[in-house]
Amino acid sequence: MSTERDVIESKKNTEGKNKDKIYCTFCPSKMLNAGAATLINMDFALPYIHSRAQDEANQSEIISDYWLIEDMYTFENIGVSHTVGNVKYLACADCERGPVGWHDLSTKKSYIALCRVKYE
Ligand SMILES: [Zn+2]
Repeated sequence: MSTERDVIESKKNTEGKNKDKIYCTFCPSKMLNAGAATLINMDFALPYIHSRAQDEANQSEIISDYWLIEDMYTFENIGVSHTVGNVKYLACADCERGPVGWHDLSTKKSYIALCRVKYE
């Protein structure tokens, strides 16, 4: 039996960084190289991935596991969607689906939701 926690733990290396490369779930766009981000535990409400079926629903879900990226230049590819206050939502640079995470304009740090990306 593997728990959700085991699945999360399996994605990081001994230094707490991402073991595998990180890709968009919808297209082959690579976002991060292996070892580029640090796993952190933090509650943040991220709006649901935009799809036509829920165009009108402006809902969000609390996600607790994120990859922390200290420097925006660490990304191989990343796009931005909209900005709300100090938060700039991040999306795929190629297919523009998202948000997959957010960028904090005051600290300049970026966060990618563990469950919204693909690993290879
Ligand atoms: Zn994509």
